[in-house]
Amino acid sequence: MYLARNTDGRRIPATRDESGYCPSCNEPLTPKLGDIYEWHWSHKPGQACSYRKTATFWQYGWIRHYHASGEWEMETSVSGVDFDGIHPEKRLSLMLAHKLDLIALKAFIDASAQRGLKPVVIFNAKAFERFQFDDYRLKHPKRSDNGWIFFFSHAFPGHKRTASLWIDIEQGKHPHFGLKSGIYNLTYSAECHGAITVGRTPKLKSAPLCSKPKSGGIGL
Ligand SMILES: [Zn+2]
Repeated sequence: MYLARNTDGRRIPATRDESGYCPSCNEPLTPKLGDIYEWHWSHKPGQACSYRKTATFWQYGWIRHYHASGEWEMETSVSGVDFDGIHPEKRLSLMLAHKLDLIALKAFIDASAQRGLKPVVIFNAKAFERFQFDDYRLKHPKRSDNGWIFFFSHAFPGHKRTASLWIDIEQGKHPHFGLKSGIYNLTYSAECHGAITVGRTPKLKSAPLCSKPKSGGIGL
């Protein structure tokens, strides 16, 4: 996990200066302060708790980014459901998705709707690894794929969109589809058997989604 709980109950990124406890099982955690990867907290060997055990360095990068903005509550829960992030003021919920997992996406969107939150999904580019990219459209690898239903239901241009969907591209890192680094908006496209339209203008990570510019900046 990225954020432990300290003795005052505050959520803290990995550090040697304070003790961190798991928000789920309350056990003391080990800070992982490597040179290369994002710092994070980890359970000690033998602790059975699986809270945020499957988090990845890609997710930690985004969690650090939004945590630093001061506007998002990251790795948090609302009425018993865990979210990667919540923007309480704007009533947004965030999912950092590695896969186009329609069941997990539906669960996230339903849980958000039930709590009056507007869902935002940032997909790792790998979620679309098998798609063909052509003229700012991602085409499903097989006609039988039903992933289009998700985009049709939630990101149909001209309708009220019920989710804000993005793909995170890292230039030079597979698969980047020849695009520059940034996050690109995704919408349903009626062409090519429900291909996904990729926005032409990326947002940069240094100018995060739905976040007001801050004086002094937040170094990335
Ligand atoms: Zn735990």
